[in-house]
Amino acid sequence: MDKTTRIISQARAEDRKVLLETEAKEICMEYCIPVTSFCLAKNEAEATRFAEQIGFPVVLKIVSPQIIHKSDAGGVLLNLMSAAEVRSGYSKIMENANKYDPTAQIVGVSVQEMAPKSTEVIVGALKDSQFGQTLMFGLGGIFVELLKDVAFRIAPITEADAQEMITEVKAYPILKGYRGSPSVDIKAIADVLLNTSRLVMDYPEIKELDLNPVIAYEKGVKTVDARMILE
Ligand code: ADP
Ligand code: MG
Repeated sequence: MDKTTRIISQARAEDRKVLLETEAKEICMEYCIPVTSFCLAKNEAEATRFAEQIGFPVVLKIVSPQIIHKSDAGGVLLNLMSAAEVRSGYSKIMENANKYDPTAQIVGVSVQEMAPKSTEVIVGALKDSQFGQTLMFGLGGIFVELLKDVAFRIAPITEADAQEMITEVKAYPILKGYRGSPSVDIKAIADVLLNTSRLVMDYPEIKELDLNPVIAYEKGVKTVDARMILE
């Protein structure tokens, strides 16, 4: 059984429809979608060891099937610079999670590489009742949420479709660079769209997928948060 099937079966067996971020990112890795490197820590000592392995600064995030919006629960700590900050951050996150939902089952804390700031894009997929698996692309923040500046395609998509999805959003000039700021890696974004298309076609039981944000650089991209919801 391949890894993606195994992760999905395990979630099903535990009656979970929303995959953990760590599970969703493992699936991304199976599909060559770049993600921030991460390790799942079960205690403070592990968290500091992983942070040292990954290299500072790091991010800590709560991993719990009941906590879907991690920031809302005080479950995301960014830019931790030292082992001491990771140690106190770990207990802070546990405390916050416990306050937010005392019944939440805690799997652990994901220790992640802190992705540098750059232009943020969103890659999504949803299973439309009429059209089936559909892909979405847009820029992060106000572009999608306020201006609804998004591109949709029915999956599977071709490389040309992926390129078009990117160029047709109104915010495209931001990706291409303006006033001397460099272009981000459009090809790497197109690859995320293509690989996401492949994933949702291989796994029709994925009802919703949200890579938000994917941070785009001059060279390459990095998915910082991944959510997948099963039927
Ligand atoms: P939530 O479940 O609240 O959506 P996220 O994982 O998206 O949690 O984290 C909240 C925000 O923190 C992200 O939108 C992003 O801006 C920032 N962030 C999260 N993880 C990282 C990371 N590894 N590197 C850099 N920024 C991050
Ligand atoms: Mg998020």
